[in-house]
Amino acid sequence: MNELRETVRRFAVREIVPYLPDWERAGEVPREVHAKAAKLGLLGVGYPEEVGGGGGTLLDSATVTEELILAGGSSGLIAALFTHGIALPHIIAAGDPGLIDRYVRPTLAGELIGALAVTEPDGGSDVARLRTTARRDGDRFIVNGGKTFITSGARADFVTTAVRTGEPGTGYGGVSLLVIDTDRTGFTVTRRLEKMGWHCSDTAELSFVDVDVPAVNLVGAEGTGFRQIMRHFASERISMAVQACAMAQRCIALTIQWCRDRKTFGSPLSEKQVVRHRIAEMARVTAVARTYAWSLADRISNGGQVTPVEVAVAKNTAVAACDQVVDSAVQLHGGAGYLRDSEVERHYRDARIMGIGGGTTEIMNEIIAKGLLDAD
Ligand SMILES: Cc1cc2nc3c(=O)[nH]c(=O)nc-3n(C[C@H](O)[C@H](O)[C@H](O)COP(=O)(O)OP(=O)(O)OC[C@H]3O[C@@H](n4cnc5c(N)ncnc54)[C@H](O)[C@@H]3O)c2cc1C
Repeated sequence: MNELRETVRRFAVREIVPYLPDWERAGEVPREVHAKAAKLGLLGVGYPEEVGGGGGTLLDSATVTEELILAGGSSGLIAALFTHGIALPHIIAAGDPGLIDRYVRPTLAGELIGALAVTEPDGGSDVARLRTTARRDGDRFIVNGGKTFITSGARADFVTTAVRTGEPGTGYGGVSLLVIDTDRTGFTVTRRLEKMGWHCSDTAELSFVDVDVPAVNLVGAEGTGFRQIMRHFASERISMAVQACAMAQRCIALTIQWCRDRKTFGSPLSEKQVVRHRIAEMARVTAVARTYAWSLADRISNGGQVTPVEVAVAKNTAVAACDQVVDSAVQLHGGAGYLRDSEVERHYRDARIMGIGGGTTEIMNEIIAKGLLDAD
């Protein structure tokens, strides 16, 4: 096991696994966990040293994600503790030193929590139609609107927010990104959303009423928000594919152990052919999905390009594998797999978001179909 994996495993075993059931019940991860993860350098893995990160590539951040789940963590924990993975990349790429000092460095140091707010109550898949407005008024923007399903929205200190700076009907060209501090007057967390899974990850509905935001908080050029969001979807979707595969890997390990220990009709489950073949299938779909997802992470990490079609294939393949595996894991655990707080039951619930968040399975299929059918 390499050094990074060992560090992550130790952190998970000491600082995460014993407390995760409490955080699931509380509906959030305590802030001090961010500070502890940052102290070990885990929040900065995959981020350039120039912005306060520890260096490394997407392969390294995939390693952190995978090992946290394999060691007994959860994808909900990843969503909560690593929300900066979706909140910061646009700010880093835009390269404004002021925004990097105010938001990126303190977040990677575990002092601030960031969120990304794109989805609105009217719709999430159709990003180009978002309706939250930011009207320019001299050196400020006045923001009005609402967002929903925002990961870490209840705890966030700032929200990288997709807003419409153009006139209504300007489509994707009228979308910009603004960093909004959550202590601004007019910003409210209107609701904490209760969910099927990801219980330790707070998810919120946000409201903006005449929120006054300095124009220097604009990320990149006005009107480029949609393009920035799309560009960074690649790493988010690959990361979700890695998470889905890791959940599947963990469920396979738990199921193998269970089937060796559990005896029915005088022999262990692991000796019954139908059980053995089911586990073989779980391993087959997971191995293929993982190999594909990690090959994209590897290519990006070595300076190569990946296409939106490849990313969509990786996400959908991983989600399908994970769905199949978590279902089989619960089935092979019998009644024990249905009990609240059994680990496979938690993965079963957590897994359901993977085909919805970060672009749904149907939207991924649209991307794949477009690449196949509408190519020149
Ligand atoms: C736990 C959780 C955390 C989340 N975290 C965040 C976050 O941090 N930030 C953020 O901005 N958003 C977040 N989201 C929102 C998430 O990205 C959206 O839920 C997702 O993009 C889908 O949008 P929607 O829910 O509005 O569904 P819709 O867009 O209304 O889609 C509903 C259904 O219709 C299908 N559909 C839509 N359009 C088409 C089409 N053209 N063809 C075929 N089928 C279609 C979809 O695939 C889906 O099955 C989160 C959601 C959840 C549940």
